[in-house]
This record gives sequence, structure tokens and C-alpha cells, in this order.
Amino acid sequence: MRNNRTWANLVPYLLMLPILIFLTTAAMRGNNIAMTYGQFVELLNRKDAQIEQVQLTLSNTVIDVKGIYNDKNGEKGFQVTLPNTETVNNGLVTTLQSKVKDGNIKIVDAYKTNPLIEALVQVIPLIIVTAVGIYFISRMSGSQNNKAFEFSKSRARLEGNIKVRFSDVAGCDEEKEEVAELISYLKGPEKYAKMGARIPKGILMVGPPGTGKTLLAKAVAGEADVPFYSISGADFVEMFVGVGASRVRDMFKKAKSTAPCIVFIDEIDAVGRQRGAGLGGGNDEREQTLNMLLVEMDGIEDNKGIVVIAATNRPDVLDPALLRPGRFDRQITVNLPDKNGRKAILEVHARNKRFEDDVDLEALAARTPGFSGADLENVLNEAAILAVRENRDRITMSNLDEAIDRTMGGPAKKSRKYSDREKTLVATHEAGHAVIGLFLEGANIVQKVTIIPRGVAGGYNLMTPKEDSMFLSTKKELLAQITGLLGGRVAEELVLGEVSTGASNDLEKVTKIAKSMVNQYGMSEAIGPVQYDSQGENVFLGRDYTSNKSYSDTVAYEIDQEIRKIVNGCYDQAKRIISEHRKDLDNIVRALIDQETLTKEDLDNIVKYGKVKPETVEETVR
Ligand code: ADP
Ligand code: MG
Ligand code: ZN
Repeated sequence: MRNNRTWANLVPYLLMLPILIFLTTAAMRGNNIAMTYGQFVELLNRKDAQIEQVQLTLSNTVIDVKGIYNDKNGEKGFQVTLPNTETVNNGLVTTLQSKVKDGNIKIVDAYKTNPLIEALVQVIPLIIVTAVGIYFISRMSGSQNNKAFEFSKSRARLEGNIKVRFSDVAGCDEEKEEVAELISYLKGPEKYAKMGARIPKGILMVGPPGTGKTLLAKAVAGEADVPFYSISGADFVEMFVGVGASRVRDMFKKAKSTAPCIVFIDEIDAVGRQRGAGLGGGNDEREQTLNMLLVEMDGIEDNKGIVVIAATNRPDVLDPALLRPGRFDRQITVNLPDKNGRKAILEVHARNKRFEDDVDLEALAARTPGFSGADLENVLNEAAILAVRENRDRITMSNLDEAIDRTMGGPAKKSRKYSDREKTLVATHEAGHAVIGLFLEGANIVQKVTIIPRGVAGGYNLMTPKEDSMFLSTKKELLAQITGLLGGRVAEELVLGEVSTGASNDLEKVTKIAKSMVNQYGMSEAIGPVQYDSQGENVFLGRDYTSNKSYSDTVAYEIDQEIRKIVNGCYDQAKRIISEHRKDLDNIVRALIDQETLTKEDLDNIVKYGKVKPETVEETVR
């Protein structure tokens, strides 16, 4: 690169060279009088002119004459071209020789000019052309579009001097503990070598998108202060067989030269999928790449200070060979954060933002179950943008509220107008969900109901589980969830006497939950604790499709029956609850149509006083 630079710096001067030459020759010629043959003969015959000096350049056909003469007007240069014939030679040239002062005459063979100049004249244009060529090529290689030259180079980006620290990764205490010893290892691999301890070469981080896998890997590099190579699995996969493999080789070569270091392979499932599976047989390129990756990982000598960290959210499709000892033999699961984790993440990202005093990050954490770290960061960012848009200098709680809704369902479509009939319908539907949430034990708590449309949804209910139960659900909770989801449809049926298309999303979720209760969790009476599920593997994601259905048609029929039984049971329950609390439902519908959004407190007030605003009611109650 540096070489190209110096060349590029020379280019302007090289370009100036021909211009200089042109200018000087033009200046020289400017003093000369170009004569015709006749004028030259006349000059020779003039008595008042003295030829001071002359140079004859002889070639086969012409004689170039250049010289200086002197007359009463002073010195003048002249130039003339004569035909090289015998008459001219014997006549004119002989006269000229006798006329020149002191025999000041020089005869040059046109074919034997100065060899140095001759050579230069021939070489200079060449030099110029090459220089310009080199200049443009070097400029091209600086830009993006000459990837053709570096096909087999790895695309790994090297980041030294990483700024991310453990304190930037919030709420992953167990995960941090797991990687802590890596840091001590990267700081001094020799210690481990002396002890005869073998630190895993490969670590697989598994978890949903946005949970901080990349962040954690970077933090390890940052804490240990070692270089961080990052590459995405997709970068290995190319059209041409063998390219991926040579990229892998190249990457490890680079890494070895800067050990200790971390090699981070994001989305390793792009290359690491099970070999020989999926539609259309194998994929040569991917398999070669994967093989090369395995070979290179085996080739890393113990305790050389290279740690390979890979991330994926699909560990199930990975080739078993990747997970063997000596390769990615340690797995770290990075889960969605729980409530405390969410609070900690919010605090990390709140560091550089300013909030009104009433903003309560803990309440925010309680309201965002299922949000990943990336989602939470996004919420705070959206809120900050909204605050700027409103010309505030601090973020308010309502900014944060709106930001959560946006993250879940896209920006509010305030301009989309409902007809009155539609408004009643949506309000009834959402009120149905809310009533189940309020009165069914084990159902999720309704935090907020709104009929403002967002994204594709007409309105929505923000419901959160009573406790943070992310990992396990009981049968009762699952049934309560189904009942809650059916509440919308039931309310439409009971109140308006007809049903709408608005429930299709709810029904989809209902079916999914009911199906996994029967198939996966063994929660149905007729079938019992048997798993009939093939986990919904997708053949396009590199699973064999021959192993899909492992049960008979009779069992399939039974499964269908059980699913229907569960859903119908919940539907009846929803009907019972809503009929029982019909008054509350009507109140909620009225309030929703009136003010479009209701919070948990509003709902509690409606249940207690029949109205959202208790102040006015309290008087009459007393
Ligand atoms: P992944 O690689 O798991 O998909 P990333 O590590 O790229 O997720 O996370 C995306 C962003 O989300 C990070 O840059 C960070 O701002 C935020 N984030 C995710 N998890 C956390 C966390 N535990 N603490 C703080 N920020 C987080
Ligand atoms: Mg990532
Ligand atoms: Zn619904």
C-alpha cells in the first residue's frame, strides 16, 4: 500500500513533464523564423546579412537547416528544410559553408542523434502511460470494487483496542463467570501451559438474536486486551467451491501471527450446518468450508492463545463434528434477560441519557418481558428521539411508553381512521382480552389496552406474566394463556353477535400453544406424556425431511382431537368469564372508545368504580 502511495504522489509531476517539454520547445521555436526555400536563397545572396552559425541535420530525403544570422536589425534565428538532392548539396550547401562566419557549421546525421536523448524520447511516453496506469489501479484497490483481486483473502475484520468492557454487558452474570477464565488465559497462556491445563479452543454462544452474544465476545477481548477478529459465517459461503476454505485458512494464518487473540465467527450455522442433509443433497462449497474449519481448529496447538468464539441462534442444526471435544466443546447459553437483567441493561444504556424524575427504570423492566438487550437499547433510543422531536431536554415516561409500543408493533397509525362500527368492534375485542386478564387466575396481567392501530394490528393488549416465568410454564398457565387469547373473539360473539377477521392472529397463537401442549409437552389426557413432535425442523435449514413424521394417521387424528378439546374447553371458559363480568366489559368498551388507551390503573378503577376517573365517583360512593 505504501508503495502505491509514493507512486501516486509522483504522478502529477510525471504528467507535468510533457507539458514542460512542449513549452520549452515552443519557446525556442518562437525565436526562429521559418523560411521557405526561396527566402533562404535570398538570405544567402544578401550582402548585409552575416550567418553566424548553422546546424545541418542530414537525412536521406531532407536537410534541416537551423541557424542564426545577423543583419542591421540584430540577431535572428532561422530554420528551413531543404530537399536532399545533389544540386542542393553541391550548390546551396557549398555556398552556405563559405558564407558562415569562421566555419561555424555543424553537421549532424539525423540517424545518429544523441543516444541518451533518443532513448529518453522513446521511454518517456512509456513511463507516463505506466505511471498513469499504476495510479488508477492503486486508486481502485483503495475502493471497494476490486474484490476480484482478493477472493481467497479472509474477510475477517481485525479490531484492536476494543473499548467494550464487562461493565457494558449487563445482567449476564453467569455468562460472564463462564468466560472469566478465558480472560486470565488470554492474558497469560504460559501459566496454563505450565500447569498442563487445556483451555477450550472453541466456545459456542447460543441464544436468541440481540441478547448480547457479540457484545460478550467483544468484552472478553476488551478485558483481556487482545485483538478481536470478527467474521460472519455468511462471509465464508461463496459461489465458487474452495473460496470459503481458503478464506478459513487465511483467517487462521492471520490469527496465529497475532496470538493471543480471539476469532469470533458470527452466525456459524451458515457454514456449520449438518453435512449431507437437507434438500438437494450436499452443498460442496459449504462442506469444504466446514471441513477446513474443523481441520484448522484441530491444527491450533494447545495453549497457543487463540480462542475461537462462535455465535448462533440455531444450535440444533449444527454439525455434530463441530461440537466434539477439542472444537466447540463448551457451550454458553445466553438467554433473554429476566426482570433484574432488563433493569441492569436499561441502566447501562441510560448512562448517556437524561430522564425526568418520574421515570422508573424498574417499572419499565417489569413491563418488557421477552425483550432482548437489543430491544431494550432500541426502546431507550426511540424514547430519546421522541423527546427530541417534542423539543424536550429530558425523556419522559410517556416517551418511554410510546417507545415500547413502537418496538412491539411499529409506529402508531394515528391517521388511520376507524369507522364507528369498526371502532366498536376493535374496542369490544380488546376489552374481551382485558376482562379475561383481570378475572382469570393465572392469566397474564394486562398492563395496557389500546385501540390505536399499530403495524398490522388493529389494537393490542400488553400483557405480562405475574412473575417472570420464562423457562417453565404450567399446564394451568398455558390454558389461561389460551383463554386470554380467545377472549377477544368471545367478546365479539357475545356482545355484537358476530365475529370478525380481527382474531386470526390470536387463533394462530392459540393453535400453536395447544398443539405443543399435546405434541411436545404431553399435557393431554387421551395421549398422555408422549412426544410426537419433530420440532418443526425445516428441510431448507439443513435437516433431513425423511425423519419428519414418526406417527401413524390414527395418532395424527387423535392429536387433532385433543387440540380441539383443549381449545374448545378454553373457549367455554372464556365465555363463562365474560358473561359473568359483562358489566365490566361494557364499561371498558365505553372507556376505550372514549379515550383509546387504558392503563392498568384505569382498568382497576373501572372494575372498582365503573369509571376511569375515581375522584368524581368517590363523592357519590360515599
Ligand atoms: P447478538 O450478537 O446476541 O445478536 P449483540 O451482542 O449484537 O446481540 O447485541 C446487540 C446490542 O444490544 C448490543 O450492541 C447492545 O447495545 C445491546 N445489548 C444486548 N445485550 C446486552 C446486555 N446484556 N447488556 C447491555 N447491552 C446489551
Ligand atoms: Mg451478533
Ligand atoms: Zn386479539
